[in-house]
Amino acid sequence: LSMRIEPPPTDDEIGRLAHSFNRMVARLEEAFQRQKRFVSDVSHELRTPLTALSGSLEMLLLGADRGDLEAARRLARGMYTEVQRLQRMVEDLLVLTRLDAGRLEMRRELIRADDILATVCEQAEHLAHGQTLRWSVAPGTPALLGDKDRLRQALLNIVDNALKYTPAEGTVELQASPASGGLVMLSVRDTGEGIPPEALPHVFERFFRADPARSRLGRRPGGSGLGLAITRELVEAQGGKIRLDSRLGEGTTVTILFPAAVDGRAAARGEETVR
Ligand code: ADP
Repeated sequence: LSMRIEPPPTDDEIGRLAHSFNRMVARLEEAFQRQKRFVSDVSHELRTPLTALSGSLEMLLLGADRGDLEAARRLARGMYTEVQRLQRMVEDLLVLTRLDAGRLEMRRELIRADDILATVCEQAEHLAHGQTLRWSVAPGTPALLGDKDRLRQALLNIVDNALKYTPAEGTVELQASPASGGLVMLSVRDTGEGIPPEALPHVFERFFRADPARSRLGRRPGGSGLGLAITRELVEAQGGKIRLDSRLGEGTTVTILFPAAVDGRAAARGEETVR
């Protein structure tokens, strides 16, 4: 895909047409390259758990456990973890592909801030391992307008990260408050290990992990590196914006600016769909 029209040195209509044709080709080339990189990243990411799985299976088949039931169980547990990782990755990839194709339908419903924060905390409770998890809504925070399930998923991804990178004695705090311009501010603040400054510009990129070894030290297997990429797309597809601030050794705050529902009265009625 390397067709360009050498633009004639004129500024007439033909010259302009040639220019816009070239711009179009450049955009196509870019998209093509992105696609190629994505496929190669995906293959690479799938290879890691698959290699681990086939290694363990081989050991089992060779009888490396020597009839030791406990050793066999350990291997099986490790394999189960890798399978779960693969499952998560495939689910994430499906969501991303649908988002890319614009095939993920977004509802527009009224979402009460207290409702969504309470639900997210409730669902995240079992991911916590000792940390304090709490939420609050500032007075006068309007209801939000968007897809409740997708917003919940986005917030859950963020809280999941916050818990993954925050020690047991730490705190993860969700807050909602009014923001200017018909927006609501939702934030998730943690007192965890933070992100190195050089990694910050990349955290929303697909497959990016600040330190792949780090997340695997913890209680749960490392993520796919797709969580924040999906989260950002879910938020932006609903007209929201997301940013991440972090200080190494101090903690991380993820802030979402989300469209507010304008009709406060309707907001009080809760979940009803806005037409
Ligand atoms: P993963 O599936 O690895 O969690 P994400 O896209 O969700 O992928 O996050 C990308 C990377 O950003 C993580 O691997 C981690 O290094 C870093 N990160 C995200 N959130 C936090 C946080 N709250 N504290 C520290 N590091 C974080």
